Amino acid sequence: MNKTFSFEFFPPKTPEGETKLRAVHAQLATVGPAFFSVTFGAGGSTREGTLQTIDWITAAGSQGAPHLSCIGSTRENIRAILGEYRARGVRRIVALRGDLPSGHGAAGEFRYANELVEFIRAETGDWFHLEVAAYPEFHPQARNPQDDLRAFVRKVQAGANSAITQYFFNADAYFRFVEEVAALGCGVPVVPGIMPITNSSQLARFSDACGAEIPRWVRRRLESFGDDRASIRAFGLDVVAALCERLLAGGAPGLHFYTMNQADATLAIWRRLRQG
Ligand SMILES: Cc1cc2nc3c(=O)[nH]c(=O)nc-3n(C[C@H](O)[C@H](O)[C@H](O)COP(=O)(O)OP(=O)(O)OC[C@H]3O[C@@H](n4cnc5c(N)ncnc54)[C@H](O)[C@@H]3O)c2cc1C
Repeated sequence: MNKTFSFEFFPPKTPEGETKLRAVHAQLATVGPAFFSVTFGAGGSTREGTLQTIDWITAAGSQGAPHLSCIGSTRENIRAILGEYRARGVRRIVALRGDLPSGHGAAGEFRYANELVEFIRAETGDWFHLEVAAYPEFHPQARNPQDDLRAFVRKVQAGANSAITQYFFNADAYFRFVEEVAALGCGVPVVPGIMPITNSSQLARFSDACGAEIPRWVRRRLESFGDDRASIRAFGLDVVAALCERLLAGGAPGLHFYTMNQADATLAIWRRLRQG
């Protein structure tokens, strides 16, 4: 497959979690992904955890791509983090606005991700390959689809090289998004973010929070399996592998997997795609 595949982790909270994640990384590394990205908690809450995770991913021979969110942060703060990554030879960053937990009012010196992209370019030139977030079903806070598309284009105009989408289960939303941003003059690769389905209540919770639609027929089937994890996984694999096949056949430049720090579900999709 001559497309770009990448995997996303979140920083483990405990030493046991780290040991487990190192084993997951070793399993996923066997399929040769372009990079492993590591999320960054709102307001810098995982700053050390993200950095440490990137360090051992790099030491294990993979390319690490830290996420960096700017909401609630100062320029000085972001400058310091960029310096740490640069000193370690990191070349790719996923640049985001992030979300502050409710009650944390201090907005900091950045309002939107395009301002972060602009700042990183001004500070570090072309050192970093910058990824930004894209929302084929639109960001939950967007005033309307047109404004959201324009906000995406602003991030690219500010210097983003490529994008990773929020997960979705509707391929048409992705194709339409790519077409519409291309019509606005924006031709960077937009890589679909893929969420394996392994747990229906968790999926419903995440989807409500991030604005991803679970099609009714998928939701109803998942509900009908109750606690039968094996059926949920088997059905989830069929649905998500079919989505991936359609996206790749329709021209998606690769896939980015939200692994949830687990290897099995992602590898099962990967194997299905290799067979296809
Ligand atoms: C691939 C991916 C990875 C992620 N990783 C993380 C992570 O590690 N940590 C984390 O905390 N969160 C993460 N998120 C979630 C993300 O931080 C949230 O979705 C956040 O609400 C928006 O971030 P953004 O970078 O897309 O923001 P932006 O691009 O700034 O957009 C945010 C909202 O503001 C609107 N907007 C943008 N510019 C303007 C403007 N000038 N005027 C008015 N409205 C505007 C947009 O339409 C949108 O509704 C990730 C999301 C994705 C898709």
